[in-house]
Parts: sequence; C-alpha cells; structure tokens
Amino acid sequence: MKVVIYPGSFDPITNGHLEIAKEALKTFDKVIILVADNPNKKARFTTEVRYQMAKEAVEGLEGIEVYYTHGLTVDFAKKIGTPYLLRGIRDGADMTYERQYAELTHQIDKSIKFIYIKAPEKYVTLSSTKIDEMARANKDISKLVPKSVVNEYKKR
Ligand code: ADP
Repeated sequence: MKVVIYPGSFDPITNGHLEIAKEALKTFDKVIILVADNPNKKARFTTEVRYQMAKEAVEGLEGIEVYYTHGLTVDFAKKIGTPYLLRGIRDGADMTYERQYAELTHQIDKSIKFIYIKAPEKYVTLSSTKIDEMARANKDISKLVPKSVVNEYKKR
C-alpha cells in the first residue's frame, strides 16, 4: 500500500488543503494529513483543535486520514513506514519556502521523498491566514473551508 503523509499547520484547514489531499489520492492509496507544529509560526488554534477540524473535514472521504504530532514529521514518517511527504505549491513564495523545508528535512533524513502538487487555480490565493482575517472581519468563509472550520469560528 502506497502511503503519503501531508504535513502542515492546517491552522485552520482549508478547501485548498483538501484539494491537494484528494488529488494525491489519484496516485497514493492513502493520504495521511498530519497536523504538526511549525516552530516558525505561532498557531491560532491548538494542535488538538486543528486536528479535530481536519478530522471532521475528511469524514466520508475514503483513503484520507488525519493524525497529529508534537514531534518531527520525519519521525512520524518512519513510524508509519513511508518516505513520501506531500506539499502543495501555490506560487513562487511557496516554492522558495518548500526548497528550504526540503533541504532542512533532508539534513535530518535523506530518504524522504517529496511529492508536490500544484494548487488548483481557484485556490491559489487561499491561505489559512486569509481565512482567519476574513473570519475576524465577519466575512463569509463557508465556500473556502469545511463546515468544521466555520463552526469553530462561530464558537469564538
Ligand atoms: P506549513 O506551516 O507547514 O506551511 P500550511 O498548513 O500552511 O503548513 O500548509 C501546508 C501545505 O499546504 C504547504 O505545502 C502549503 O504550501 C500547502 N497549501 C496551503 N494552502 C494551500 C492552497 N490553498 N492550495 C494548495 N496548497 C496549499
């Protein structure tokens, strides 16, 4: 069984993230969304809440699972037994960032193989930050994120 891990902050998960996971399912048997802590970003939602929102979002989507870790993604990959890490690319800024992320990861574990999927056109400008700004300004985010995220913002 070919498994790919899709690590990220998912703070919160968006339809852009979900599209990348669904696209990867055309090549992999299983996609594991791994809610991880990015030391360079201060999270808006706790790891547990980010995990819950993502988990609810993939309910009914066969082949996509959600896990979380407070540790390193490479350690999680080793535990699962796959070398494949999935990342989404929206623009040049993502490419620059992903190059650095890949280099850093390979310093820890050379066996990791990165799979990149281009963001679909309608989601190239979508980010978790944009969602957070829209939600705070009371704008409608329901077409850009799963219901679990809309509900979480309603609680705030
Ligand atoms: P990280 O903090 O690890 O960058 P993110 O949750 O911001 O985590 O993003 C996880 C991955 O998903 C990254 O590879 C990012 O480029 C990608 N991504 C984020 N938003 C989108 C989107 N709208 N379309 C496609 N890929 C995306």
